[in-house]
Amino acid sequence: MDKIELSKHIKQGDTFYTPFTDPNGMGATLSLSSWAKCWLPEFLWIALIIHGQGRKRGFENLYHIIEELQNSEIAVPQLSKVFNLSEDKQKMFWRIVTKYVKKDILAPLTVVVTPDINTVYYNHFFDFSMNIDDSISMLLEIVKECNRFHDELTTDICFIVDWFYVLNGRLHISADLDLPKALTEYYQHSHEDEVMKMFRPMIRSTFQGLCNLDCSKDFARCIWKVMGEISECNPLVIVWEEEITMDFYKIATDVMEYLAATNEDKKMETKYAVIMGLTCYIYRIYQEIVVKQLQNDISGRILFRTMLETYINLKYLMKQESEVSDIYERFKAYGSGKYKLVMAKIREGKYSLSEDSQIDKKIMELIVNEDMDEAFVNMSVGYFDKTGFRTKFQKCGEDELYEIYYEYATNFAHGIWGAIRESSMLICDNPAHAYHSVPDYHNEQNLRNVLGDSEMVMKKTFATIATYVELPDFYAV
Ligand SMILES: [Zn+2]
Repeated sequence: MDKIELSKHIKQGDTFYTPFTDPNGMGATLSLSSWAKCWLPEFLWIALIIHGQGRKRGFENLYHIIEELQNSEIAVPQLSKVFNLSEDKQKMFWRIVTKYVKKDILAPLTVVVTPDINTVYYNHFFDFSMNIDDSISMLLEIVKECNRFHDELTTDICFIVDWFYVLNGRLHISADLDLPKALTEYYQHSHEDEVMKMFRPMIRSTFQGLCNLDCSKDFARCIWKVMGEISECNPLVIVWEEEITMDFYKIATDVMEYLAATNEDKKMETKYAVIMGLTCYIYRIYQEIVVKQLQNDISGRILFRTMLETYINLKYLMKQESEVSDIYERFKAYGSGKYKLVMAKIREGKYSLSEDSQIDKKIMELIVNEDMDEAFVNMSVGYFDKTGFRTKFQKCGEDELYEIYYEYATNFAHGIWGAIRESSMLICDNPAHAYHSVPDYHNEQNLRNVLGDSEMVMKKTFATIATYVELPDFYAV
């Protein structure tokens, strides 16, 4: 399926809908289904016949089978529909099928279609002498062969299903379209033939039009559940091991040393305390990522996000300075208020804190009262100067940092699914498991290195403070 551009999405409330899911458009009637998850289980019996007899014989026999089924008015291709027929009709269905197909071809399906799913099928095809492992392998092979909607075996199945609908009279073909040609000539060609490039999409889109409402999601779910149980997971781990260079880290450390040794004239200014405090905080986080080698870890990403937030606060404050002369004092007071809120609740006994908690209320109290008596410290529950992060990034001309880097890292900070999936879940490579993901219990998965992006933020930080403090000659901004 072609990717849909962002601009083609439709905004409603706080959700951007795709043209296919727009609740006022197609989405109102479309039920989401994917070939393997929802449709394939219904047609596994057809897949087994084509796979077992080969395309040519399989097609011929299936054509006769459909004709005979139609004569008895039981021509339905979906297993869930067959299983809903009366017991006599089901028996007749499989008697007709086995006139053309040996029982052992359809026997592997009894591993999945157990008696609690359908006794008629099971009794008709189960053979005590059959090898269960071979049957499972056969099913896995088939599922692998037609796992995607564009696979050749998938299209062959669609072709047979289309014929069910032609012969049972539910598909009316208009003669002025190419479809009749595709339907009558498809079986004569091998998949390598040029003309099949035109036939295959036609066969599949006809199938899609017919089948969307006729398949049972519950049945598919039930079959996939058994498939999941009869075979093991095969989790795939992606391990990132890039060469790490420490070059920039060494330079950044030297810059910090230089800053520590200079600026004696500024050290009593609140502005200096705030700007250099934020810079040290950013550098310190960067240092933790490097020294503790967190670059491929979840914590690396969360730390990177905090570097970004701190950097944008820094840049925003410096930008606002011309308009709000006491911006640095306000920034400190806002922070003291944040601490005061927590500290006061602890002090007033709203909650009793465990002895070994990270929080030390004495230190918090000290910080709250540092600049002025806490009686004068206001508490804000909103953003600093009421400006949200998005706006701050925009005002600082850092839209890309917000829209790409910050939004991505937020998934990790907030434990949102994309981040969970990327870091803590592994894709299972067993086609019979419909490519589900499994928890990474043994922490084998790691993430792409965050050092390059962290360096980028460190460089931006230096470039920003360069208008206020002098950077060393060896560091060219
Ligand atoms: Zn699995």
